[in-house]
Amino acid sequence: MIQDIFPYKYHNEYRNIAAEDSDYVIPVHQQRILCSCTETKASLPTAAEAERIWKIDRKKLRYLFAIDEMNFFLWDQDLEETAGFRWEHILTVRGLEPAYISFAAAVGAHLAHWYENNRFCGKCGQPYSHSKTQRALVCPACGQVAFPRINPIVIAAVVDGDRLLVARYNKKHFNPRNNQYVLLAGYVEIGESYEDTVRREIREETGLEIRRIRYVASQPWPYSQTSIAGFYVEADSRKPLKIQEDELSELVWVKREDLPPRRNLTSITDNLIEWFRHGKTVEEIRKELE
Ligand SMILES: [Zn+2]
Repeated sequence: MIQDIFPYKYHNEYRNIAAEDSDYVIPVHQQRILCSCTETKASLPTAAEAERIWKIDRKKLRYLFAIDEMNFFLWDQDLEETAGFRWEHILTVRGLEPAYISFAAAVGAHLAHWYENNRFCGKCGQPYSHSKTQRALVCPACGQVAFPRINPIVIAAVVDGDRLLVARYNKKHFNPRNNQYVLLAGYVEIGESYEDTVRREIREETGLEIRRIRYVASQPWPYSQTSIAGFYVEADSRKPLKIQEDELSELVWVKREDLPPRRNLTSITDNLIEWFRHGKTVEEIRKELE
């Protein structure tokens, strides 16, 4: 999955430090990343390069996080495409090598989105300042503190024996990059447990009542500012399906052997489908992930 960057390690603790020459810069503008990309590889400019190529003011870089000893800083303004660097949509960078760079780009874009949308205190309207000690924005007027926002989502693989319930989004929710089958998913609402959300979403999207809700794994999904918890659940495939046409165009039970293999395994959807295709039990999967 996108967060699997072994042997590298992600350190998200905030540090109030200035960028050195060899530190990486993640330029983010309107959910696009300025990077040098080929079909398979992505690279980011260093602080020294960004200073030389675009004459950026290094003091305006904002510390984001570290991966091993490598520090990453945010540049949140438009820059000219030059010297092999192009603005790419964050989803285009997904899955490119090295994995720690495409992961860093996604997480950087999520943080950029949060900073961009939290410039003023939601309580009194004064401009926020950055805390010197933690990743938080502080209002100098009223003391309000804002922490990074992550929206929780559940995703459920509904199974009945050797059959998996898969869906396709309708035109409104269609992602042209990816016309593969998807699993059912939805936002956790205020006052709900994750299990409640799974039951509600499946009922709303398929008309089915489910049983045996088993948590499998989670992943950050910075592309939509979310965190995803993945579940396997069971339902009766003989019951009629009531498709939620507002979101989905197709809902179908597919036999294990008829499921097409997933092209890459960056998302939890890909993994839930692949684990099912290979007949793995939840216990086996949990053990593998330990
Ligand atoms: Zn305030």
